[in-house]
Amino acid sequence: MVSHYTRISVLILLFSFKVSAQETQNSDQTAKRIDFANSITANDLSTLLYSFAADSMQGRMTATPGQKKAAEFLQNFYEAQGISGGLPGGGFYQNIPQEYFKSKYVKTDSENVVAIIPGSTWPQEYIVLSAHYDHVGAKGDTIYNGADDDGSGTVALLEMAQAFKQAADQGMGPKRSIVFLHVTGEEIGLYGSRYYTENPIYPLEHTVCNLNTDMIGRIDPNKAGNENYIYLIGSDKLSQELHDLSEQVNQEFIQMELDYTFNDENDPNRFYYRSDHYNFAKYNVPIIFYFNGVHEDYHQPTDTPDKIEYPLMAKRTQLIFHTAWEVANRDQRIYADKLENSASEKSDKR
Ligand SMILES: [Zn+2]
Repeated sequence: MVSHYTRISVLILLFSFKVSAQETQNSDQTAKRIDFANSITANDLSTLLYSFAADSMQGRMTATPGQKKAAEFLQNFYEAQGISGGLPGGGFYQNIPQEYFKSKYVKTDSENVVAIIPGSTWPQEYIVLSAHYDHVGAKGDTIYNGADDDGSGTVALLEMAQAFKQAADQGMGPKRSIVFLHVTGEEIGLYGSRYYTENPIYPLEHTVCNLNTDMIGRIDPNKAGNENYIYLIGSDKLSQELHDLSEQVNQEFIQMELDYTFNDENDPNRFYYRSDHYNFAKYNVPIIFYFNGVHEDYHQPTDTPDKIEYPLMAKRTQLIFHTAWEVANRDQRIYADKLENSASEKSDKR
């Protein structure tokens, strides 16, 4: 029989070995996670955006040949990556009937483009990453390329999809499913996201959160000289957990200023209500809206790919990637724990 002290020290030794093995595994996983995030590069974003916001897309106005061509571009990208369509049966297009758009400009059906990377542990819980891929079209020979609005969010989704797919191929895929939702009809009234939330492909009660990206490639003139920033809107409206997680991820991996100026309820711009995430928030799905603010080329033909700040855009995309990774992989699902702030209850009180 070994002495009491020897037994204890063997136990301590075994225990510390186990702890350090666990630590090594965790730090390996963190290192890999950072590698996946770093696969999102300024170069790749630039290559994609020069194609997606090219003149040949004719400004991507809803229900025009330019928008259809943009939809095809998205589908081709996902297929080339081996990522499946999000519709039952594996299709990519969620068709929206012409009548749904209460707009005289819409003369045919349009479509949302949806792809999915299924979760490895909780495949029936969903994180929806969204960006609108339509824009305002062309007037005669003048094309509104919409590189920032919202070519930037669109190609950010593509790069994040590629990074998550690489992780999945190496056995580190997201534990919850990630849905890549490219909505149409945003510029004419947030139609695509409204249609999706009224006809959800994946149940909204199992939708953990929506991270919406609309304009992340430029710099607000008010932030000149202070450019390592992104505006976050809505992160604390429905879920404190989501807000805290987002802050924590930024501190650990990105160290960018998260600016909440436009999150103020009294901000006259009311951006919280002005992009696609709002249609999710209406149904009490926690959201974060990522946004660079407006600039002189906003909704002008001069919103072109050469004006995008690609390294900054890559960093912002990595922030969204890490946030999605965290929501998808943490043991406990996050919930809307601040429902007293919900849009529906608020409108009841008005
Ligand atoms: Zn937009």
